[in-house]
Amino acid sequence: MGTIDELNKFIKKATSPFHTVDTVSEELKSKGFEELDIAEKWEIKNKGRYYIKVYDSTLMAFTVGANGMDGGNLRVCSAHTDFPCFKLKPNAAINENGYRKFNTEVYGGAILNTWLDRPLSIAGRVITKEKDEFKVESRLFDFSRPVLIIPNLAIHLNRDVNKGVALNKQKEMLPVADIISKEADKLSLEEQLSEQMNIKREDILDYELYVYQCEAGEKIGFDKTMFSSPRLDNLTSVKAAVDGITGAKERESGINMVILYDNEEIGSRTKQGAQSDITLLLLEKIILSLGKTREDMIDYLLNGMMLSADVAHGMHPNYPEKCDITNKPMLNGGTVIKIAASQSYANDGAASAFVKLLAKKSSTPCQTFVNRSDMQGGSTLGAITSTILPMRTIDIGVPVLSMHSARELMGVNDQKSIKKLLTCFFS
Ligand SMILES: [Zn+2]
Repeated sequence: MGTIDELNKFIKKATSPFHTVDTVSEELKSKGFEELDIAEKWEIKNKGRYYIKVYDSTLMAFTVGANGMDGGNLRVCSAHTDFPCFKLKPNAAINENGYRKFNTEVYGGAILNTWLDRPLSIAGRVITKEKDEFKVESRLFDFSRPVLIIPNLAIHLNRDVNKGVALNKQKEMLPVADIISKEADKLSLEEQLSEQMNIKREDILDYELYVYQCEAGEKIGFDKTMFSSPRLDNLTSVKAAVDGITGAKERESGINMVILYDNEEIGSRTKQGAQSDITLLLLEKIILSLGKTREDMIDYLLNGMMLSADVAHGMHPNYPEKCDITNKPMLNGGTVIKIAASQSYANDGAASAFVKLLAKKSSTPCQTFVNRSDMQGGSTLGAITSTILPMRTIDIGVPVLSMHSARELMGVNDQKSIKKLLTCFFS
């Protein structure tokens, strides 16, 4: 199976941040990684491979060299598990005018009109009651088939539609589930979940459910040079980071680490987000468990290197003027190094030189992205994590078009490039 087909398979399973973490956990387990409980005492051994789930939607995986930390450094790759979508509100079911709809909030910066007229599904987790009065259990749930759609308004009822339409998030973006034909169609979401999951209604206490786009990814083009898929931002990076740490040649010394954060699309300021102290706390636990001191940890951090992986803007064929005038990342042109004088992307000369050397060593192409000077552009994890983990950090990623659309577009060769580059980084 080609690298892009493997990515496609992964994206089909990673339908919510919880499912991304679950799918990655299964992959790590099958590669000999052992799960550590976040709040227990750890006994980390040299040559060990471990992972920790943080509130089920963030994950840290790491490997320790045969000689432990001594004589090696800390190498980290970060990415994010979340993506722009819709999140179901409490009391979500609406039964009116003969239709069943659901009340949602927009999660992250979605391009709203790309979500219209597409088969949508629901995935996330449902919180259920345990036998013990004060214990709850979190169960993954995925409808795994189209159950919702947000229908467009016909052009005859909106003659100006092609001049651009502002869509109201509360009124015009609510997904429709069914045409009500009988009383049973008016069940609450919890009642419906209880049927689907075979759990008693009274045992369902809460849910965190997302609406996702459930059409599969497809190769596009006469020569199949492109790949169109939901959730490329940022499952391309998640997959490449996991492939990198699991496929790398073991290092004699040092620690390799992958951190997959939730909540990047809403600013990262959560307990499981990149702006949380959780990364430092977990790192300290690892270092202390290896019999080292806090001072060792500080030295380790300062000598470490982080690659923050997230998708980058490729040059758009219909909007080439939106691109910088001397830096024009191309799809299939290889891993993008993101540069910004404002440091909205983490970078310094030494870090970007390091990525260029990595690209050379892994025989993969790389290119640079800089915003046009008259445009603000975006930001990502690197800028946040490098203020919490003050180590050399650089933002890199696969070039895409239509970022934050319900379907995004990449080149079929770029996944292989970033996978090879990250495998080389961890070797
Ligand atoms: Zn992203």
